[in-house]
Amino acid sequence: MINIPKGTKDVLPQDAYKWQYLESEARKVARLFNLKEIRTPIFEHTELFQRGVGDTTDIVTKEMYTFKDKGDRSITLKPEGTAGAARSFIENGMANGVLPAKMYYITPAFRYERPQAGRLRQFHQFGVELFGSKSAQTDAEAILMADTLLKNLGLKVALKINSIGCPTCRAAYNKALKAFFAPHIDGLCHDCKTRFEKNPLRLLDCKEEGCKAVNAAAPSMLDYLCADCHEHFETLKSCLTMAGIDYEIDPRIVRGLDYYTRSVFEFVSTSIGAQGTVCAGGRYDGLIEQLGGPSVPAVGFAAGMERLLMVMEQTGVTLLSPDAPTVYLAGMDAACRQKAFELSTKLRLAGISAEIDHMERSIKAQFKYADKIGAKYVAVLGGNELDAGVVNVKNMSDGSTQSVAFADLVAYFS
Ligand code: ATP
Ligand code: MG
Repeated sequence: MINIPKGTKDVLPQDAYKWQYLESEARKVARLFNLKEIRTPIFEHTELFQRGVGDTTDIVTKEMYTFKDKGDRSITLKPEGTAGAARSFIENGMANGVLPAKMYYITPAFRYERPQAGRLRQFHQFGVELFGSKSAQTDAEAILMADTLLKNLGLKVALKINSIGCPTCRAAYNKALKAFFAPHIDGLCHDCKTRFEKNPLRLLDCKEEGCKAVNAAAPSMLDYLCADCHEHFETLKSCLTMAGIDYEIDPRIVRGLDYYTRSVFEFVSTSIGAQGTVCAGGRYDGLIEQLGGPSVPAVGFAAGMERLLMVMEQTGVTLLSPDAPTVYLAGMDAACRQKAFELSTKLRLAGISAEIDHMERSIKAQFKYADKIGAKYVAVLGGNELDAGVVNVKNMSDGSTQSVAFADLVAYFS
């Protein structure tokens, strides 16, 4: 037997409705905020992620699915959605079009990680990118959009925000961080020793307990913000207050990606512990230029869809029930089954969901099956009904029955 690859999951037919529900809620919120969908390829040139995600990030150094194609090009399966959207924004000259360019995606993403609950090698993201605006209201709008989705899904989450400033003020902060960490360097993990040299901000993001303990006393970026960044953060906070959204300032949030500037945020489930971060995002004013495009500010977020579903299921949030056929046509014998097939065809052509027996089962077994698939009505055809040109329709929710002529069937279920 060939098994499913480690860290991947099937969505089985009986569970697909949960995904459809989640996707439709995501699309609803996108429409509410006037975003259009973008679909980019599953694979891109490896260089896009090296430059767009950052070659000191965990994603690029450890987690990418990278391979050579038959033309000897280095190809990578997308580990996240922003880089592809940014590439497309540049390539299609969207900076010269209508700004802001507000878009969203629902995409699989691939990361070579140690699989555990809520951490997969193929997972899915609902992501949002708002290109073209540097205003803090736009940051607030991105946060509001995520908040609206999470509330509509019935989730209890805490919002954590921070500002990581701009390249100007971060230079001074990086110096302060290095000065702080220098005496502790021997006690840090191997990765943090590299981070210390290449990207000190990333030290705050480490998940090792030993490093976390040291981090607790590290200086805060918020004390180093320049006047512009400070004002931007103050405006964001007042927008959130105005919108009635609770938040907590968490100076440890730096995000794992290199292109972030100013606002960073995370929504964390308050009902589950590990892997509770269901949504993360921030501003990335440097990204488009870093990828060879014009200087265009942007803000966005990505929500982990498996994590959303996991939290919804663990907290007993009810999902829309799966689709069930309106009517199951049960046939007593071969002639009746043939008629059932004909009637089901007419019903489906008229837009009424119908099902028939495909397994040559007894009437009793057909009823059992109809019940299993949740059919709302069962229309029974025996020899007598066939002769009389009627079906005996049973309403499965109240048990009532009614005889309906073949010719009236479509009208009866319309
Ligand atoms: P983490 O700190 O949990 O590794 P991250 O910083 O790598 O998260 P992002 O790159 O910001 O995560 O991705 C956005 C969201 O996608 C996360 O908040 C999470 O909900 C989800 N996500 C990230 N990696 C995975 C994964 N391997 N499996 C499932 N969901 C994931
Ligand atoms: Mg990660």
